[in-house]
Amino acid sequence: MPLHIDPKQLNNAHSSTDHSILDELQDLEDHGITEAFDVLPGGFVRCSACHQVGDARDTALLDVRRLEGKSDPSEMAAVLTLRCSHCGAEGACITSFGPLASAEDQDVLMALSVHERFAGLGAVAP
Ligand SMILES: [Zn+2]
Repeated sequence: MPLHIDPKQLNNAHSSTDHSILDELQDLEDHGITEAFDVLPGGFVRCSACHQVGDARDTALLDVRRLEGKSDPSEMAAVLTLRCSHCGAEGACITSFGPLASAEDQDVLMALSVHERFAGLGAVAP
């Protein structure tokens, strides 16, 4: 059976509504973002490239992609693109999001001002 490209996939390339975390990570990898950041308690993140722990407030937030659980709020998640303050590597950081987010994730989201970022985005694209 010949390979074919599903046109729906092309059209959805930048739509976040139907994307899973894996789709987002694949998309980031396609853009050369291959490292990952772990969330640590107290608003810290650890870079997978240099293994240094950095304060999230010192870490550049490059991009935010929010994934909404369609029926279950506990599935709400955010895929953040961060740049390490130690080695400059760019990587993805997956956090829970919303009312059920863990305390560690809330601290990092707060330190990165992710909510302000969403507020800004919301004004442009409701
Ligand atoms: Zn690093």
